[in-house]
Amino acid sequence: MATQTSEITLLSTITCPDCGHAAAETMPTDACQWFYECKSCGTVMKPKPGDCCVYCSYGTVPCPPIQEGNSCCG
Ligand SMILES: [Zn+2]
Repeated sequence: MATQTSEITLLSTITCPDCGHAAAETMPTDACQWFYECKSCGTVMKPKPGDCCVYCSYGTVPCPPIQEGNSCCG
């Protein structure tokens, strides 16, 4: 199935690597989020090397530009 779909998922569940707390967040379509503070333990997550944003590293769904096949932040 190589059909390109333009449907973008904006809701991603981000999971804290420290405490395991998961929160559903709506991703911005026009910007990347580099930092995300865990609502449970306060840990500030940053993208892993090679990832462009915290959603790509810790979310269930990569960020919208990646879903569209673009790189967002270089
Ligand atoms: Zn946490």
